[in-house]
Amino acid sequence: MKITFFSTKPYDKQFFDACNKDYGFEIEYYETHLGPHIVNTVSDSIAVCAFVNDKLSAEVLEVLAAKGVKTIALRCAGFNNVDLEAAKKLGLNVCRVPAYSPDAVAEFALSLMLTLNRKTHKAYNRVREQNFSLNGLLGFNMKGKKVGIIGTGKIGYSLCKILLGMSCTVFAYDLFKKNELETIGVEYLPLDEVIKLSDILSLHCPLNDDTYHLINEETIATMKPGVMIINTGRGALIDTRAAIEGLKTRKIGYLGIDVYEQEDKLFFRDLSSKIITDDDIQRLMSFPNVLVTAHQAFFTNEALETIADVTLNSIDSLIKGSTLRDPSVLL
Ligand code: NAD
Repeated sequence: MKITFFSTKPYDKQFFDACNKDYGFEIEYYETHLGPHIVNTVSDSIAVCAFVNDKLSAEVLEVLAAKGVKTIALRCAGFNNVDLEAAKKLGLNVCRVPAYSPDAVAEFALSLMLTLNRKTHKAYNRVREQNFSLNGLLGFNMKGKKVGIIGTGKIGYSLCKILLGMSCTVFAYDLFKKNELETIGVEYLPLDEVIKLSDILSLHCPLNDDTYHLINEETIATMKPGVMIINTGRGALIDTRAAIEGLKTRKIGYLGIDVYEQEDKLFFRDLSSKIITDDDIQRLMSFPNVLVTAHQAFFTNEALETIADVTLNSIDSLIKGSTLRDPSVLL
């Protein structure tokens, strides 16, 4: 039984090969993204395993279904790049890894906050140059700051608990409230209130029609001057051009993004000897108060082990028609 992988990196092979010892699938690894340019090369595969920026449009899914693929296994949580309606019509199973390590992402969101605040990335370089001055490294205490969490699912929940542990005031907005969070001190407020009151805003909702450009010119105008915005969700939650304007006017005091609207042309690749033609990312990286990381919030040992385990277990169960260990993997 063959599974074809796309967007494969050396660490994917490491973790999937180790896990596959329990399953014995034939695994074909492609480094390239999945899209119309490559889909025709898939042959004799029962499943295709894709990652965050692979494009599973109706066109791609039709070719895969015609070639006998039965399962699309996303080795990630987000599924905004899959045409689920088309998959359903074609009879394809689509599964994902809903919770490989919410803590990994929540802890990374905190690390973006702390790095931007205390400027440890600048201090590291400075001290290596024997510059021991503190000028320009002034930060603020997290204790007592108002942090707004948009989306209190698995990742938002974990981050709320971390921030409460740091004595922050935590506001939240979600379509559904979590009583456990209210009990421990999180205050749910309407979205516009969370945006207006927060010193730090962290985005943890999925990308969909309702959340596309949630952070835009209008919402930025209502924020506190000097607000810190953290995005480990999906790039298009933020209108990048509006964020750039907000940084230029100093309305936005700090921006930490692990995801970027146009990341599929950049992230997960070494482009250090290439000319980058995306002017927005270059402009963002030119601000001293912006920190960009390349979709690494999930990237821990624990998360990669879980991703491999859940993905291969789901494919195995779907092939055998046996009960899924966790039915919520199926979309
Ligand atoms: P989850 O499904 O557990 O939680 C999402 C929450 O968002 C839910 O509580 C849902 O009710 C809420 N929500 C839905 N629509 C909303 C809206 N319009 N406004 C406010 N809240 C809304 O998902 P999760 O595991 O916590 O992950 C959240 C997102 O983080 C994922 O969708 C994915 O895009 C992103 N993610 C990023 C990385 C990374 O490495 N950077 C890794 C994993 C997940």
